[in-house]
Amino acid sequence: MAKNPLHCSFCGRSRDEVKILIAGQEGHICENCVEHAREIIDQELMIKDEKISSSFKLTVKKPVEVKKFLDEYVIGQDEAKKVLAVAVYNHYKRLQQKNNDLPVSTNDVEIEKSNIIMVGETGTGKTLLAKSIARMLNVPFTIVDATVFTEAGYVGEDVESILTRLLQVCNYDVAAAERGIVYIDEIDKIARKGDNPSITRDVSGEGVQQGMLKLLEGTDVLVPPQGGRKHPEQKLIKINTQNILFICGGAFDGIDKIIARRVQTNTIGFNVDKELQESMKKNLLRYVNATDLKAFGLIPELLGRLPVVTHLDPLDAETLRAILTEPRNALVKQYRKLFELENIQLNIEEDVLGFMVEKAMEYKLGARGLRSICEGILTDAMYELPSSKETQFTLDLEYAKRKFDKSKLSLLKVA
Ligand code: ADP
Repeated sequence: MAKNPLHCSFCGRSRDEVKILIAGQEGHICENCVEHAREIIDQELMIKDEKISSSFKLTVKKPVEVKKFLDEYVIGQDEAKKVLAVAVYNHYKRLQQKNNDLPVSTNDVEIEKSNIIMVGETGTGKTLLAKSIARMLNVPFTIVDATVFTEAGYVGEDVESILTRLLQVCNYDVAAAERGIVYIDEIDKIARKGDNPSITRDVSGEGVQQGMLKLLEGTDVLVPPQGGRKHPEQKLIKINTQNILFICGGAFDGIDKIIARRVQTNTIGFNVDKELQESMKKNLLRYVNATDLKAFGLIPELLGRLPVVTHLDPLDAETLRAILTEPRNALVKQYRKLFELENIQLNIEEDVLGFMVEKAMEYKLGARGLRSICEGILTDAMYELPSSKETQFTLDLEYAKRKFDKSKLSLLKVA
């Protein structure tokens, strides 16, 4: 038998093996175990504090402020901005509701997630809107392309790897990823072909939509840390998607015909005035709703999880011109800065801007084309000027036209 029967109830060391033994009601604890317990408490508290502080570090702004912020980066698209501002605000109010941990009786109305779907031609600012929102909220953000995913069992990526990308951008910080924003581009490309679900199995479309359901609704999802296909030996990371905001975007080519059909059938028999009909025809996307998206080939279950539907307007010449000069990081401002870094003042004459817009419209390049047009026109200057002694460079119409005609872009002209 041991000389001294007193021992630490946690590690079992006897009285002789420790310096201090503190007595409790039914046992003892030694100084080593106290120290160890202290470390565990510190760690736990730190994790909790981090969780609390990070969720409150969210810069939640009122919808009007959100729109103002978006105005700095995105031209026009007022309706989409408003809808996004409200959806994002409500989403984060919902997060706060959860954080407050109010008792159920006073907290019985649960605000549902407001995932968003944006319909608009390519290059009208869908990605830019999603990106700007993520920047404002200071949360992890990633863009994925719906076309790379296939139904489990087929060549391609599992839908879960959408979350892998989110994890990667925040260095595998699961708590941060769980509050992130995912932009799923080209959602229209996984539409079921035709409105008839029964013809054949549709590998690329409906299966992927089915796969996405569980991501969007908010459950625990097991995510392969390196993406790609899941395989049995891989360690998976558990992510809860309940507070991840999903924003989907797509061009939905041809949806205007579906909308037109619906709008027309709705108005037949009524005395709708001609002017209204004309203005409706001009931008039918304005009237897009979930019924049209269903007719296009998105399954109702998926649409149910994307309750907010909005549209983006096509870009006209006026908007394109504003895009060149107005946003916070507008192209013209970027080129000015580039020249300034070489101590050269860049002056761009007004009619050059008009010319660039005209070419973007003529070549059907949209906003994305503006950058290529600027590059085409300014590359020679950017090549030569840093080696010269010039302190000023004025871009006039004659120079712009000459350089544009010489650039590869001029070969792109569509008949
Ligand atoms: P989408 O996702 O709709 O295909 P993007 O958001 O990727 O289009 O737009 C492509 C580029 O065009 C953006 O990076 C931006 O420079 C410019 N752009 C498009 N629309 C706008 C807009 N409304 N305001 C400012 N810039 C825009």
